Amino acid sequence: MSTELESVEEFRRRARRWIETNMARKGPEKLSLKPSEARALQAEIFDAGFAGIAMPIKYGGQGLTLQHQEAWAEEVSGHQLPDLFVVTVAMVAVTVLEHATEPFKEEHLPRMLRGEEIWVQLMSEPSGGSDMAAVMTKATRGDENWCITGEKVWTTRADEADYGLCLARTNWDAPKHRGLSMFAVPLSDPRITMRPILGSDGGATHFFQEFLDGVVVPAANLIGGENDGWRVAHTQLLHQRNAISGVGYGLGVGDAGSEGRGGSSHHGVSDLIAHAERNGTIDDPTIRALIAEAYIHDAVQVQVSRRVTPGIRKRQLTGDWGSVLKLGLGENTLRRAEIGLIISGPDGIVWEMGPNAYPTHEGRAWLVARNMSIGGGTNEIQRNTISERILAMPPEPAVDREVPFSQLIATRNRKTDGT
Ligand SMILES: Cc1cc2nc3c(=O)[nH]c(=O)nc-3n(C[C@H](O)[C@H](O)[C@H](O)COP(=O)(O)OP(=O)(O)OC[C@H]3O[C@@H](n4cnc5c(N)ncnc54)[C@H](O)[C@@H]3O)c2cc1C
Repeated sequence: MSTELESVEEFRRRARRWIETNMARKGPEKLSLKPSEARALQAEIFDAGFAGIAMPIKYGGQGLTLQHQEAWAEEVSGHQLPDLFVVTVAMVAVTVLEHATEPFKEEHLPRMLRGEEIWVQLMSEPSGGSDMAAVMTKATRGDENWCITGEKVWTTRADEADYGLCLARTNWDAPKHRGLSMFAVPLSDPRITMRPILGSDGGATHFFQEFLDGVVVPAANLIGGENDGWRVAHTQLLHQRNAISGVGYGLGVGDAGSEGRGGSSHHGVSDLIAHAERNGTIDDPTIRALIAEAYIHDAVQVQVSRRVTPGIRKRQLTGDWGSVLKLGLGENTLRRAEIGLIISGPDGIVWEMGPNAYPTHEGRAWLVARNMSIGGGTNEIQRNTISERILAMPPEPAVDREVPFSQLIATRNRKTDGT
């Protein structure tokens, strides 16, 4: 049997033919599919042989390369996509692939790729998200299971998910990075209470807070070794940044990250020109300078992406290079939204979606622009990552790195008690 891979061009032609016949173009309102529709579409994509393109065949993938994945993303751009699966495929599945046991991978990876399991990330906690190694959620080992208690927050689309990848503390006497473990937690467990959080966008982001009250999971749900959760979390964060920035295994599952621009909403400046023409400000030099600024930021982001993306794919750039793209997106998305709001003037005011609403919604874009500079790690955290892990600059001082976590907590509690 020949083991020769299908060429990228042959694959691209096959993908194009299938997409033309089977996938709908995305309408101007750019709404996401309902969960049941996203599941059905992901299943269709799987059946057609385009899910998990660069994932191994034995786990339901296609056994091709990230270059094939990129070709798929280019061909499928502008179509209605199963965005709900971005976290599952681009962030969780690849982490599971690297760290989970063989039986776990055989059971869950094909289900993720077939659209049967939606996964989310249970990482951030009310006490803080940037210092993720300081999680307070506790997992206690029983004979053949683990019991997990704690609080997680800002979980995107938790209400639609089947499982969460949950970082919890399993050794309180080890330093904070060395006492963590990662677990697969079924979100249908009755000992989980889930509350929605109303975001600045009126709830469109679908944030949730979860209270885990003695959730029991089998020992087989431990992903990676006991107390080795930080390594698993690091893999997940790396893939998360890559996925947001348009690199990796989930490219073309959703449209976020296409060309390093954080999604299709930022392609070009034609919307800004349309606003200025509509408002009669197109000849105003200040407005023209703002449009030029937006154009330059967009072009720079695309050029950086075109260098970094293939570099990561070909492994010439190893490590945290996704942070470079993510930081660019975090900065540019906010500035682009400000420029959009200025140029659209009164048209930028937010109002309900509807047939008569002005379709560009610059006000809405401005309200959600902060998402990009916070979610997946804030801009400050990306700067730290770039300086320490890419530029090899001296690390941020971390006096707590070698201190047992229980001592840190005791010190913190004494401070808050005033004792
Ligand atoms: C759109 C979106 C989706 C999200 N989805 C999820 C999800 O699905 N699952 C999940 O677990 N979480 C999710 N989050 C949460 C996100 O990961 C956290 O909000 C983020 O990590 C920051 O944590 P925090 O909000 O607790 O802020 P904090 O960590 O409290 O930070 C507050 C401020 O201090 C700054 N800061 C903190 N530490 C440093 C430092 N060492 N150096 C310099 N500055 C620092 C930060 O940059 C920030 O400005 C999401 C957030 C958003 C916006």
